[in-house]
Amino acid sequence: MTPAEGARGPRLALVGFRSDENSSFLRGAADAPPLIRSAFASASSNGWTEGGIELTEADFYDAGDFGGTEGPAMQSTIESAIAALLGRGLMPISLGGDHAITYPILRAFAKKYPRLSILHVDAHPDLYDEFEGNRFSHACPFARIMEEKLAGRLVQVGLRTVNAHQRAQIARFGVEAIEMKDFREGLTLAFDTPVYVTFDVDGLDPAFAPGVSHREPGGLSTRQALDLIARIGAPVVGADVVEFNPKMDPTGMTAMVCAKLVKELAGKMLESAV
Ligand code: MN
Ligand code: MN
Repeated sequence: MTPAEGARGPRLALVGFRSDENSSFLRGAADAPPLIRSAFASASSNGWTEGGIELTEADFYDAGDFGGTEGPAMQSTIESAIAALLGRGLMPISLGGDHAITYPILRAFAKKYPRLSILHVDAHPDLYDEFEGNRFSHACPFARIMEEKLAGRLVQVGLRTVNAHQRAQIARFGVEAIEMKDFREGLTLAFDTPVYVTFDVDGLDPAFAPGVSHREPGGLSTRQALDLIARIGAPVVGADVVEFNPKMDPTGMTAMVCAKLVKELAGKMLESAV
């Protein structure tokens, strides 16, 4: 279906990036997109967001999944896929894949949104200058994003693995890091630019979302994450849900959590779209 054919015309796009070559510990995130789609379409729930918007298939243009290539070729595949969706006036929600996909996604976003803030939920800052010799590791995307000034503001929530190097990177780039130990219920984030939400599922406590490559106890509950999204005080113009590793998700629970995040992010994006 093309955007012009929908009853009211889709304003959102779903796109999968089946890439986990930049994962440093376990592979498997490349298998996530079809499982998130299937959980999202499951008859076990309905299309209503908590904010009161009913999502239907007509709200989404499904751009399918991209994969089967690596390195710079995969980066340019991702960047051009997102640029094409933005060029059609759609707001993309990307399904990872590991967190390395967010750097090429943001390269495309920065061209459309010269003033952009990022809300980044994660157990990890992902700010390494390089990790095990790879500057495009899933441990590095926000170092690349901040070096290239692809966003004016980076707010990280849920961190619980900050080391000395990453603390120095946080200071160097002026990152607003809200470590999990300092997180309080009711956190409301104000922004004066459009917001891109990048959601690494390991930001959640592994009790709620065990299907990740790096299980880091002591994270956000699903509820806390949903409340954080609901309270974003600015238009949300794009999002990704990354690092779901189906190999670590024996009960399928994490797929449902990812689908719930996609649903509420979609609702937030439609709610704030003019
Ligand atoms: Mn991450
Ligand atoms: Mn992480």
